[in-house]
Amino acid sequence: MTVKPVDYIYALNDFNALMDNMPSVFHPDNDNVYKPICDVLGVSRIDVQYIDVDAEPAHGVIYGKYAKADGQSVSQLETAKNGATAEYTLYRSPSAPEWDEDDKGLISGFIKTVFIHHGRLRIMSMVERLTYFDPVMEIGNLKAFFRKISEIIENDHIAQYGACYFNLKRFSVVNRSFGRDNGTKIMKRFVKSLAAKLKDGGVYRVGGDNFTAIFEKEDFEIIKNHLAGTKINVEVQGTPDVNIMANAGFYLCTGEETNHDMVMDKISTAIVMAKSVSKDNCFVYNEEARQRIEHRKMIESQFSKAIENEEFAAFYQPKVDIATGRIIGAEALCRWIKDGKVVPPISFIPILEQSNAICMLDFYMLDRVCRDISGWISEGREVVKVSVNLSRMHLGDDKLLEKVIGIIDKRGVPHNLIEIELTETTTDVDFGELRSIVNGLHQSGISASVDDFGIGYSSLTLIKELPWDVLKIDKSFLPDGSANDEQKSIMLRHVVSMAQGLGLECIIEGVETIDQVKLLKDINCFLAQGFYFDKPLPKEQFEQRIASQYSI
Ligand code: C2E
Ligand code: MG
Ligand code: MG
Repeated sequence: MTVKPVDYIYALNDFNALMDNMPSVFHPDNDNVYKPICDVLGVSRIDVQYIDVDAEPAHGVIYGKYAKADGQSVSQLETAKNGATAEYTLYRSPSAPEWDEDDKGLISGFIKTVFIHHGRLRIMSMVERLTYFDPVMEIGNLKAFFRKISEIIENDHIAQYGACYFNLKRFSVVNRSFGRDNGTKIMKRFVKSLAAKLKDGGVYRVGGDNFTAIFEKEDFEIIKNHLAGTKINVEVQGTPDVNIMANAGFYLCTGEETNHDMVMDKISTAIVMAKSVSKDNCFVYNEEARQRIEHRKMIESQFSKAIENEEFAAFYQPKVDIATGRIIGAEALCRWIKDGKVVPPISFIPILEQSNAICMLDFYMLDRVCRDISGWISEGREVVKVSVNLSRMHLGDDKLLEKVIGIIDKRGVPHNLIEIELTETTTDVDFGELRSIVNGLHQSGISASVDDFGIGYSSLTLIKELPWDVLKIDKSFLPDGSANDEQKSIMLRHVVSMAQGLGLECIIEGVETIDQVKLLKDINCFLAQGFYFDKPLPKEQFEQRIASQYSI
């Protein structure tokens, strides 16, 4: 017997204490932990072979990886209750005396102790993988992202970091083109190559094609460029590299962050902005963005209740025949009467247009207008044709015409008292749908009008081919004292004569001055709408105004 049992017991005690704090089986500090007891036992190297556990490498050197694996050795197989099996081989250091049977007994006890510790560490690492790892992408998951941020905050380094939330653009197309399995590989290459570019931090998967990243601020441009578009090899013969792009919301930390939620909130806000308002699909968080998102959330959350409570009102803006000064129609414009204040459509319609909520509002408005008209009819008042705006969001609805007619008929309003204003669109898809709704309205005796004609890319084909009743020319054609007034007047004159030549009623909106009214008379455009006559008026004021005449 060469090993002293007392030394062995002390060394084993110390070993147990150190192992209790060891985070993993193959930790770089292993050598320091194993050395004292290995010196007592005369061990120079320990190899381990895991037989049935796939979470760790199958074979590894847990102590003395530079020592030779030859000379006297002891091998021992250990099996746990769950069947997990490991074989340990301990090599005697050349300077230690030969082991006898008593020594081997102590070594065997030591191996059992090591096996117990390894069992615990392996379970911990499996739990770690299940909790913090995305096995498909082979990167951390959202919990791992949060943990990394918390660590950086704890170390007081957060001011040096930035974070990002990104979503791969049109990845379903990649999946369809190359198959799901190849799609997954492409995605993996894209995120792994990004992770490889970062000095510190990492890339994490939230789920699907959504990811987050934390990075040192000096890597900001690198990550931004990678996400703006990176060519990824498809590894399918004859297929060119595919350019993968992402929508990305960034936040550059200030140092005031005290928990991971504060970072997550900012990048979640920034990605929404990247998708909705940013031209290059990349947005860096700022305070204004926060307010916009807050506002949006507020609108979205209050909208349904507001419809239920009938908080939306129809304001009526007169349409005037400038030859006579008489009101010949009106446009119904939506106002949200919220806590006694009148909220203009610009602060809620663009938000509602991002979902189907706008359709609900439009139907509500049409119904509101029909109720008002049928009220006016039954009270024996003078009634004019009222136009109602329909958002483009309706164009995918193949029941749209039925629904519109249904609402009008339910209130018993004659079709010739309703006009529907649609903003023209020029894309092919919209064209077909627009055609069917315009045709349908026309055939039912409901006027269809092109709203805001002249904004964006107006298509003359669209005007020529669909049976529109009214062309509403946008105010941008009206001379307003700016440099290109002359061109505007020329264009206005031609647009008006074209519309009239095509048999369309022609009205110009946004008329604000007497000079503009005079110009309209000059070019034979006799219908106008604008602040020169009236702003959109609450129903009661409009009712009073309707019988009066504007002096022009
Ligand atoms: P729009 O349909 O082109 O309506 C005309 C807008 O021009 C109205 O703004 C009106 O108040 C404004 N306007 C009228 N005369 C003048 C003028 O002389 N000068 C200037 N600068 N502006 C004038 P409003 O009421 O703020 O509505 C803005 C837009 O919101 C509307 O543009 C329409 O696109 C949308 N909108 C309003 N109500 C509804 C609705 O019920 N449904 C849908 N889908 N959109 C609506
Ligand atoms: Mg309109
Ligand atoms: Mg308009």
